[in-house]
Formats: sequence, C-alpha cells, structure tokens
Amino acid sequence: MIQRAYLDNNATTPTDPRVVEVMLPYFSEKFGNASSRNHAYGWEAKEAVDHAREQVAELIGANPSEIIFTSGATESNNLALKGLLNKGDHFITCTTEHKAILDPAESLAAKGIDVKVLSIQSDGLLEVNAFEKAISEHPRLVSIMMANNETGCIQPVKELSAITHSNQGLFHSDATQAVGKIPVDVNELGIDLMSFSSHKMYGPKGIGALYIRKGTKVGSLIEGGGHERGIRSGTSNVPAIVGFGKACELCKQEMREETSKVKNLRDKLEQSLLSIEGTQLNGGIENRLPNVTNIAFSGVDGERLLLSLNGLAVSQGSACTSAVVKPSHVLKAMGIPDHLANSSLRFSLGRFTTEEEIDFAIEKVTAAVKKLST
Ligand code: PMP
Repeated sequence: MIQRAYLDNNATTPTDPRVVEVMLPYFSEKFGNASSRNHAYGWEAKEAVDHAREQVAELIGANPSEIIFTSGATESNNLALKGLLNKGDHFITCTTEHKAILDPAESLAAKGIDVKVLSIQSDGLLEVNAFEKAISEHPRLVSIMMANNETGCIQPVKELSAITHSNQGLFHSDATQAVGKIPVDVNELGIDLMSFSSHKMYGPKGIGALYIRKGTKVGSLIEGGGHERGIRSGTSNVPAIVGFGKACELCKQEMREETSKVKNLRDKLEQSLLSIEGTQLNGGIENRLPNVTNIAFSGVDGERLLLSLNGLAVSQGSACTSAVVKPSHVLKAMGIPDHLANSSLRFSLGRFTTEEEIDFAIEKVTAAVKKLST
C-alpha cells in the first residue's frame, strides 16, 4: 500500500526523466553562452536553443521565430500586457483569470489603461454573445485564458478571437494549463499572443514562452542587450530551454494516449467522490481539461479536510494564493457561495498518476469527509 499520492499537477509537474537526460550535458559539458558568436562553445549552445525553439513552435503550430523564451507564464503575461498597452487603450479580460493576468491588469488600470473585467457564467465559461456586446469599444487587447487552473474549464477561444479581430483588437491567451494537455494550434484558434510554461508540462521550472504572431510589435520590459527578437535580455538559460523543448516534443508525441489514460483515472476519482453525500462538481462537466476535477464537500471545512488527508497532495483553490486562506476568486466568480468555495478541493492528475494513487485518494478523502461532516 502506498503512503502518499500527488494529485496537484496543475501546481507543477515532475520533470520527466527523459527531459532531465537531455538537459544534463548543457550544465558542465556544453556550457557555452548562446550569445557568444565567435567560438564553438557559443555555437553549440545557440544550436541547442534553436532546436528547442523549433520543438516548442511545433507543439502549437507556430513558426520558431514567433517564440520568445521567458522565465515562465507570469513573465509572458506581463510582457504581453505591459508590452502592448499604453495609456488610453482599452483592455478586456475576465474574472476567472489567474493572478498573473489580474494583477498586471490592475496596475495597468492605475496607469490610465481602460480595463474591463468581464463576468463569466456559472459553468465557468464566458458567454460568446455577452462578450460580443462588451467588446464594442475597439479594444487594443483582449486576454482570455484557454483553460482554467482551478476548474479546468476550456473557454471558447476560437469564437472569442474571431470577435476580437472583427473589432480590430489583438487576442492574447494564457494557455499555461492547456498547452501539452489538449491540442492547441495558434492559427486554427486565431491567437495573436499566447503564454505557456514548461513546469506544467513535465519540463523544468523557471522557463516558459510567449508566442507573438509575426508582425505584432511588443515592447521590452527588461533592457540590457536584448535577444529574443530584441524583446528580452539576459543570458539564456540553455539547459532549461533544451528541457522545455524536449518536454514539448514528448507532449506532442504522447498527448493522445496520455489524455485517454488520465481522463479515465480522473473520471474514476470524480465518480467515487461525487457519490459521497453533499458533494458537487464545481464548473460544467463539458468543455474542460481531462486531468482536473474540482469538488465541493458541503458542510466540511476545506482547510481541515486538507489537513486530514495525510500523504495526499491536492490543493484548495489556486496554489499561488494559498499563503492566504480565502475563498477562491475563481469559484466566487462562478457564483459559488463562500461556504461551498471554502469546502472545495482541486484534484489534478498527470502523466505519472497511477491507479493506486487514485484508490489511495478515494480512500483518504472518503474517510476524512466522513469524520469531519457536521
Ligand atoms: N497562468 C496560469 C493559468 C497558471 O496556472 C499559472 C501557474 N499557477 C501561471 C499562469 C504562472 O505560471 P509560471 O509559474 O510559469 O509563472
């Protein structure tokens, strides 16, 4: 019998050993600076970065020249918003975005950008007609996430980007939780800018990308000898970039098979947990990621529940705000009352989740809910 299980893959994933293997030579053996133009150490590093850029681009149907390496999705989001928006511009986003969009949006509002944060429906999705009405004022930029980190809800990005374009706006999507888990093609979806991150898809932490469609001009946030089309500066993290590239390649090759395995395990977990009295699913059952379920355990305090799950790693709301215990802004935005939001847990599965872990989770949660039910 196992002693612990990891069902928090939306917070971060383990680095795939095949990714670690390709990264290793780039620490001590092939350690060159990719910007060193006049010797073989530099050329070797540059070649590795170029190859990784191709692997990343390939996963999302982009051209390698459209990929900017960043430190992760938070930086990519900041770069997209702050690099594009100027005083007086209109910017539209929605209430269930990650803080990595909502926080920069707030600081942009304070600098004179007109920010509109749209409400969403109880199933976690933006209603396309409501979006069309809200957009009438010619936005410079719209940013709507592809899949939500807490509920897994997948937004109708293709329809939203088409409406944005017919109103002369640019469309950005924070696709951190979608890329690597579901097929994402920037051309098919009509995306102009897209943020994503390596550590959510079995690559190393501290590396991510911003896709910027050819011809779109984005200003730089950090100056000092720019590379990445002059948009980002500093010495490239070659081992991390190499690992990110490999992670993208593996996702492309294995996504179909992995999705069906992960979805079956998720469904087994979800059905068992929903058979406990007083439980309900947060968010719609359709249009969501295959690896997540977010469940409210009515009458049970979520924090106490978390503490009684010895050995089971899950999360209450978003990991990034978990230092402060308050109801998840995502669940609140979906109209879920505070007491239910506070008794909700997110279970997120991944590539390495086993059936044994699912059985362990079902047993732990069922026993804890029984004990804590009032
Ligand atoms: N956006 C979303 C939707 C996320 O889930 C996360 C990670 N919690 C981020 C952005 C931030 O990603 P990173 O850790 O790469 O900065």
